Amino acid sequence: MRACFGVKTQQLISRVFRHPVHPSAAVGWRLAQSRLLSAGESKPRPSMLKHLTFKIKATGPITVAEYMREVLTNPVTGYYVRNNMLGPDGDFITSPEISQIFGELLGVWILSEWMAAGRPKHLQLVELGPGKGSLASDILRVFNQLKSVLDGCSVSLHLVEVSPGLSGVQAQTLTGGSSVESSSEDDPVFRRGETSAGLPVFWYRCLEDVPAGFSIFIANEFFDALPIHTFQRTPKGWREVLVDIDPEKQNRLRFVVSPSPTPASSALIQPEERRSHVEVCADGGVLVQQISRRIVEDGGAALIADYGHDGTKTDTFRGFKGHRQHDVLSSPGSADLTADVDFSFLRTMIGGGVACLGPVTQNMFLKNMGIDTRMEVLLRNCSHGPTRMQLIRSYDMLMNPEKMGERFLFFSLLHHSRLAEPKKSEGMKLEDKSPAPLPVGGFTEISFS
Ligand code: SAH
Repeated sequence: MRACFGVKTQQLISRVFRHPVHPSAAVGWRLAQSRLLSAGESKPRPSMLKHLTFKIKATGPITVAEYMREVLTNPVTGYYVRNNMLGPDGDFITSPEISQIFGELLGVWILSEWMAAGRPKHLQLVELGPGKGSLASDILRVFNQLKSVLDGCSVSLHLVEVSPGLSGVQAQTLTGGSSVESSSEDDPVFRRGETSAGLPVFWYRCLEDVPAGFSIFIANEFFDALPIHTFQRTPKGWREVLVDIDPEKQNRLRFVVSPSPTPASSALIQPEERRSHVEVCADGGVLVQQISRRIVEDGGAALIADYGHDGTKTDTFRGFKGHRQHDVLSSPGSADLTADVDFSFLRTMIGGGVACLGPVTQNMFLKNMGIDTRMEVLLRNCSHGPTRMQLIRSYDMLMNPEKMGERFLFFSLLHHSRLAEPKKSEGMKLEDKSPAPLPVGGFTEISFS
């Protein structure tokens, strides 16, 4: 469907698109950064495998969710806590690390939703799992280019991050290292700082700690890192898959099927489920409920981008190490663990509190946001051959259906008033048409006519 954006949003987009490649942002694949977190890695670390083995010996096989939570976010040995995993020299690469255009288009989306909400005086940008801080940095550059649009609005950045090490990388990107860590464990803000443009930045361990207020929530490749429970249909009913010690191989773990129901297998399987193997991310469900409640109470919107499906896939749990797939049970803590996001489950958990849009493919979302126009401007302003090649390669990576174009999906949570037909004001003449709500960027094609 083709629809016209409000004139103001078109103007926003064309003003951002006039700018060439930002000199501080690498074009295409961002330059591989030195592994900032590897400095202290020569110290021997406690082994995650040993830790898990002790745990299983003490209390029996653990759920896949507990395994994933320990492996990824254990405060001492967790993968996210002690690794710098993002980028060409890490284990995987994400859209904002591939191209600055991704963050710029999301910046325009955020501004257009803020405008559609009636330009509230305060805007909290909340990012879940900010990685190296590249996405937030690209978004804030757009905010800076469009300062006049945001005139009179106080903007603040709120980052939810489990990894103290990565928060240091984010602080370097966003505040140039001028941030300070909190001296108290009880402080919900564990780090704070200010960008060069004077925007306050706060770091939290969990969403509950982020203050109330009109907020736009962004999560790119965050939900796929949350722990999943996995279940198997058996002749005796649904049973949970667990992780146990392999009695036949030294230092190896294996999957087993629980002989009896577990609390999760009793609570998390939908009665109408037709698949024979199911992954359920209960933490993701709780998180979207928290976000929905905030949107209902304080206004705002959320944009979730991740690889995922709409309740159709069965077995997507996998590991990544050095950009290659890795056995999820081998050398735990050395590789990323991930599972596709089940957007139909998130929609079920949200219920009717907020309106949901999508999921639509990354290809469609970015096209609708005007990525082709942005590419034209960048290519027109760039005569350096290798840089042009990088630009084209990164566009292909983001958009090619075989690469990230169709495997990544965009899903949005919106306040119901955002999509409602505006009420006719009293005294309006019968022939006056009430204006239709503005289309939501990315989910509807933008017309520049
Ligand atoms: N959004 C970034 C990074 C994705 S990697 C990008 O697109 O480049 C996942 C990020 O989520 C990392 O920053 C990781 O430390 C963080 N993370 C993973 N699990 C988390 C959790 N349970 N709570 C908060 N942050 C988490």
